[in-house]
Amino acid sequence: MRSLPFTKNDLEAMAAKWPTPFHIYDAAAISRNAEALKAAFKWNKGFREYFAVKATPNPHILKLLSKHGFGCDCSSLAELVLSEKSGITGQNIMFTSNDTPGEEFLKAYELGAVINLDDITHWPFLLETIKEVPELMCCRYNPGPTRDGNDIIGRPEEAKYGLTYEQIFQCYEMMRDAGVKRFGIHTMIASNELDRRYIVETADMLFKLAVELNEKLGIKIEFVNIGGGIGIPYKPEQEAINLDILGQEIHDAYKKIIEPSPLSEVALYMECGRSITGPYGYLVSRVLHFKDTYRHYAGLDACMSNLMRPALYGAYHEIVVPGKENSPDQLVYDVTGSLCENNDKFAIGRKLPRLERGDFVVICDTGAHGHAMGFQYNGKLRSAELLLEEDGNVRQIRRAETLDDYFATLSFDEL
Ligand SMILES: *Cc1c(COP(=O)(O)O)cnc(C)c1O
Repeated sequence: MRSLPFTKNDLEAMAAKWPTPFHIYDAAAISRNAEALKAAFKWNKGFREYFAVKATPNPHILKLLSKHGFGCDCSSLAELVLSEKSGITGQNIMFTSNDTPGEEFLKAYELGAVINLDDITHWPFLLETIKEVPELMCCRYNPGPTRDGNDIIGRPEEAKYGLTYEQIFQCYEMMRDAGVKRFGIHTMIASNELDRRYIVETADMLFKLAVELNEKLGIKIEFVNIGGGIGIPYKPEQEAINLDILGQEIHDAYKKIIEPSPLSEVALYMECGRSITGPYGYLVSRVLHFKDTYRHYAGLDACMSNLMRPALYGAYHEIVVPGKENSPDQLVYDVTGSLCENNDKFAIGRKLPRLERGDFVVICDTGAHGHAMGFQYNGKLRSAELLLEEDGNVRQIRRAETLDDYFATLSFDEL
């Protein structure tokens, strides 16, 4: 079983103040991981990670990461405003959106964010919207059939994102001719990828494209953004990507492609979300009911509103029962929530220590796309988020929703 950064007694103390369910994030572990990523890429002078805000859109997390030099990768108005309110602005924001409303381009431009276009038609749309030519521009490349797919994001050829190879050259030419002075190039074609080679191939592909853009259009690409997509080992038998080796292998590609080219140096950017916070968040709940029908069910006080991934992707999440980690008395359970959807199950056929009502059940790896994917279907409310700070204190960084929040958008006046 996974070891947790808190004990059952710690949880009792937290739950006395903030009732379950809640998500809790381990700040010390997030910080260590952020520094490990930076160390793996310190060979690249301009290396920068732009944290994908959608993974954990909480200002306290964004602030913590910004202390390690991370920027924000945003793709909506709300995420832009969240970054702004967290004190992260200008080129510390990468705006990687798609099917983008004009107001979002406007806000990104006002904040001085790096604007990353998802389509060639967005270039004239952007100009009409902001009525100026940005100094710095970036486009998202979709390599189409030249690259294989990845389970979550799908095959590049079938993905809605990015410009084709031909469009990339057309778009950068248009941007150059319109007066754009500085350029970057981006792609994002993997999600939850645990095969290091795929990430290295992506860097290799973009390095080559940067050199080709320089050869054909005479423009200088100053950064290459290989997107996010580094996976995490949700399952016990899976292994995390070794960041040091990843860094070395991307450095090898860089030495081969960029250094001998007229570009001679480019900054390497990433916009990982999952691998930055995913393993360091936990959904803490308690057992509410048992039910023995055709199977043994353990019903929690959490449901898929708190964590969508199992229902959405059939995703596996480790479950720990604090205080019973080494119990030999085990039983096979379906661990469920209370939503009127039969896929509201955190685990199916999972062998766990024999549970009792009130036991804490900790669902691991919920630090990314956990609380963030929450929704209010069936009138289930989103939980609180807590931060286990580096000094051991626990602080609430988002309160739980209340019925008033649920009703805030409704009017009963003219019924
Ligand atoms: C979701 C997303 C990311 C982050 O992906 P992870 O798999 O969480 O690393 C980065 N960039 C874009 C454009 C995204 O949509």
